[in-house]
Amino acid sequence: MDELQQLIDQAQQVTFLTGAGVSTASGIPDYRSKTGLYAGRQRPEELLSHDYFVAHPDKFWQFVKQSLYFPEAQPNIIHQKMAQIAATKGQVITQNIDGLDHKAGNQQVIEFHGNLYQTYCTQCQKDVPWQEYLADYRHPDCGGFLRPRIVLYGEGINEQVVQKSVRAIQQADVIIVVGTSFQVYPFAGLLQYRQPQAKLVAVNKTPLDVGQHGLMLTGDAAHIFAQLH
Ligand SMILES: [Zn+2]
Repeated sequence: MDELQQLIDQAQQVTFLTGAGVSTASGIPDYRSKTGLYAGRQRPEELLSHDYFVAHPDKFWQFVKQSLYFPEAQPNIIHQKMAQIAATKGQVITQNIDGLDHKAGNQQVIEFHGNLYQTYCTQCQKDVPWQEYLADYRHPDCGGFLRPRIVLYGEGINEQVVQKSVRAIQQADVIIVVGTSFQVYPFAGLLQYRQPQAKLVAVNKTPLDVGQHGLMLTGDAAHIFAQLH
């Protein structure tokens, strides 16, 4: 714990790589964990896929609306501390689509998989407020299907987002992985772009392989971040 504080204090540039474990303390379920959203249901790879959206826009909408949107959720101590650090010398690359880093006032966020609260029409390409999407999946203007600007299974990551993320990793002398078991590619592949001397830290409920020189903090990320000053 003291070591983490020291690393952050001495760092030139801190890049955070975050996942669902950051937002569970805000009441957003981690759909990949055993107790999460999908336990005992269809696989997320099917329900949140491009093919499913195209074939069943109505069922896709029902599912997304009921299971992914938590508009009342508020950022927690992890989002707040990251925003504080990012304001002077850091960036956050997140897999989360909940927009909570923005809500925490973080200006240095790359949303690798997009943001649920940016919604648009797939026919006329107009942006529409997410509240309209939650009311109906069809665009009143043109009858086209609305969707959130998130990356579905079977869709590629925006090239600019990938480039920005790679740069954020390359610039960092401290990389902190928080609340993700790092199983989702291409997100997990970002680490390979780090500088050889960059220090790798992981904060996660279950231990991850951080290599011989890395620092693993196993435990509740909210509890650990609350101790940072
Ligand atoms: Zn439209």
